[in-house]
Amino acid sequence: AHLVNRIAAGEVVERPASALKELVENSLDAGSTRVAVTLSAGGTQRIEVADDGCGMDAGDMALALERHCTSKLPDEAIENVTTLGFRGEALPSIASVARVTIESRPAGRDGWCRAVDNGEVVRDGPAATPPGTRIVVEDLFARVPARRKFLRSARSEYAACLDAVRRLAMARPDIAFSLEHDGRRVLTVPAGQDRPARVAMLTDKALAENAVPIDWVREELVLGGVAGIPTFNRGIADHQYLFVNGRPVRDRLLMGAIRGAYAEMMPRDRHAVVALFLDVPAHQVDVNVHPAKTEVRFRDPAMVRGLIVSGLRRALDEAGH
Ligand code: ADP
Ligand code: MG
Repeated sequence: AHLVNRIAAGEVVERPASALKELVENSLDAGSTRVAVTLSAGGTQRIEVADDGCGMDAGDMALALERHCTSKLPDEAIENVTTLGFRGEALPSIASVARVTIESRPAGRDGWCRAVDNGEVVRDGPAATPPGTRIVVEDLFARVPARRKFLRSARSEYAACLDAVRRLAMARPDIAFSLEHDGRRVLTVPAGQDRPARVAMLTDKALAENAVPIDWVREELVLGGVAGIPTFNRGIADHQYLFVNGRPVRDRLLMGAIRGAYAEMMPRDRHAVVALFLDVPAHQVDVNVHPAKTEVRFRDPAMVRGLIVSGLRRALDEAGH
């Protein structure tokens, strides 16, 4: 099982940011209202995620670290998955290539702590801890040189972690997030924000002031968010924050549609700066394409593309472009 976990780890966790994303998604699935992330050396030394979610007892925790043990498998068909995780792969994979310490307590129950060092349980016992869960991942890949050598500098691993937190925080404006790196607080957003306020807080201030709202419905597809005004975007690198059914995604089809829409309106200035939230019925999209779940597959790609192009074009037309 240990070897299987290590192989899976290569797919699910390729760098600190991907481990971090899995941990934060678990916190969101656990119904947390706040998620606090603390990193050292871009997450290469230490990643900590603390939440106030439902917590785990000793039994849950042992299961959580076993492969393919997910508490989230839906009764219905797998395509109707509504939680972020559903493979039961992330925690055992991470714990096979790092030192992982989990402290957790469901409200009104006793706390528990379990630590796993590269697949070996090194601690398992009661712990005094606040309700919720705190997971610490230390020395990711330290004992797996073949993977360790693919890590980049602490600085670029940090940039990837910040990007991951920013996207997750954008997806969930109702939840409070904080991020601390090497002792410095780099991001804080409060609970209970609406989408535009959250997007504005997490993107460039000038961009937020030069953006138009998008609000477009076609049949069962709903597109919302904000689009940067093309003239303003000059000189800015692409910033595309894309969400499908509330999940951050990086999808070629969507990115192509966005660039296409911008290029049509402003042939010489193709930089697209957008935060787009696409909601489609679960049966129209497959999020199960890749373990890291940033790729999606649409049943009707042409319709999605059309929605994005016309939604963007209309929003920017109304703004006078
Ligand atoms: P998945 O998210 O696909 O179920 P994971 O390996 O990410 O698989 O997590 C395994 C299980 O551990 C989850 O199903 C959940 O029951 C539990 N778990 C992980 N993180 C948390 C958390 N922060 N709060 C409560 N339960 C958690
Ligand atoms: Mg998960």
